[in-house]
Amino acid sequence: MSPAPHRFRAVLDRVAEEVAALPHRGSPADYIPVLADGDPRRFGMAVAELDGTVYGVGDWRQPFSAQSITKVFALALVLSLDGEGMWQRVGREPSGDPFNSLVQLEYENGIPRNPFINAGALVVTDRLQALTGDAAGRLREVLRTESGNPALDFDPQVAASEAAHGDRNAALAHFMASYGNIVTPVPELLPAYFQQCSIEASCADLALAAGFLARHGIRADGSALLTRSQAKQINAVMLTCGTYDAAGEFAYRVGLPAKSGVGGGIVAVVPGVCTLCVWSPGLDRRGNSVAAMAALDRFTTLTNLSIF
Ligand code: GLU
Repeated sequence: MSPAPHRFRAVLDRVAEEVAALPHRGSPADYIPVLADGDPRRFGMAVAELDGTVYGVGDWRQPFSAQSITKVFALALVLSLDGEGMWQRVGREPSGDPFNSLVQLEYENGIPRNPFINAGALVVTDRLQALTGDAAGRLREVLRTESGNPALDFDPQVAASEAAHGDRNAALAHFMASYGNIVTPVPELLPAYFQQCSIEASCADLALAAGFLARHGIRADGSALLTRSQAKQINAVMLTCGTYDAAGEFAYRVGLPAKSGVGGGIVAVVPGVCTLCVWSPGLDRRGNSVAAMAALDRFTTLTNLSIF
């Protein structure tokens, strides 16, 4: 049976109303100056149904900096091109440390804890670069295709700002290269990673683009991007590692696989039902959007759609 159109419309309206009353909405990321201007009062939320119907509330069509949300798509591409080999080079355990931490790498021999912290994402981008010669371009292509938005693009200003303040990512990449876990020359890898982080997309774009995770690996055109098992793997890693070192709290409150980014976006998956993307630039101290997390908390409470 095909889903009724806009079946979550009333829920979205109610969630937006409740979020508007939040007393504290956090502060925008300030590790690069271009993100520090984000206005925590902005809020958008989109739902994409399995059939590609998309709708939302607030600023749901406003492009924002996707940042770490892109790590999900890079991982999906590598798994689709290269199968399970990636898991020899990156773990799948929560790190409990900040997203840009170096501390665990030394006693784990240069193997990052998971693909969603920066170290892990650098390894995934390294593999994608080795496989395609154009990691960022391939990522943009899959995002454009799955979202149906041919205008989706990098933000050169954000990419340049990432590069100008990229010492820590450079340190991570060089350190892992010393263990042989980065093979692309670091000066080639970093621009690809910074471009990846700089993708600008709206809630509508990202909710649609992540649809393959709710469709058990099936792309918008009906072909398979991932096997059912690979889609499950990514959803599992999103649940346990997708929201920085607050994945436990996020699972407790929301109960969905999700990936957040420091631009204030969170993509969440209800397998077999829909995908969601929420954006509001104010972050809590762990880097997750306060309003987006509250909105997803209310969404799963009102719909009973947590995976638990
Ligand atoms: N561009 C950020 C970095 O690599 C990604 C931050 C994020 O969204 O977690 O530092």
